[in-house]
Amino acid sequence: MASVYRVTCKMCRREGVSLCGRVKCAVKRRPSPPGIHGPNGYGKLTPYGTQLREKQKVKRSYGLRERQMRRYYDIAIGIKGNTGTLMGQALELRLDSVVVRSGYAQTQFQARQIVSHGHITVNGKRVDVPSYQTKPGDVIGLKRNGSGQVPTGIKSIADQRSDRALPQWIAINNQTLEATIVRRPEANEMPPQFNIRSIVEFYSR
Ligand code: ZN
Repeated sequence: MASVYRVTCKMCRREGVSLCGRVKCAVKRRPSPPGIHGPNGYGKLTPYGTQLREKQKVKRSYGLRERQMRRYYDIAIGIKGNTGTLMGQALELRLDSVVVRSGYAQTQFQARQIVSHGHITVNGKRVDVPSYQTKPGDVIGLKRNGSGQVPTGIKSIADQRSDRALPQWIAINNQTLEATIVRRPEANEMPPQFNIRSIVEFYSR
């Protein structure tokens, strides 16, 4: 798990938006960027500066390294269609993202651990690769232990999930706790704080 890192609230404050998923995120108390010049904000950012910050924000929110983030762009430009939408869909359809969106984890970091530790199945088979690309029709399940139970830690998070808004492109079976990918998320269904277009502009420079 060398390429996994935990989002710190310093990163949340840098991007001006909560990325960590913590209830008590520091960005809510101290919305200014970290550091001694933080309280002055960023001043006026150049177009490049804006694109860079946007790219960093999204990259950190999905817990990706630069090389991995760049790869999503490289794949998206090779496909016919809107590059930003395609990139956003690929990020949202990562198995760890789906685990968060389905309410089986509260943060991307937590989701990645749940996946890597083998607690998630796709169409009945265990998949322990957080970057695994899910597709419409896939059924994401929670691996049962020997006595047919879902691990209690995951169960307790899953039990709270009805409080959170489930995206329209995922359907949950409340009996089996299985999540079905109904369709690909649309452009207007990406997390609202992301400006994917800025990221495309950043990489296409
Ligand atoms: Zn935070």
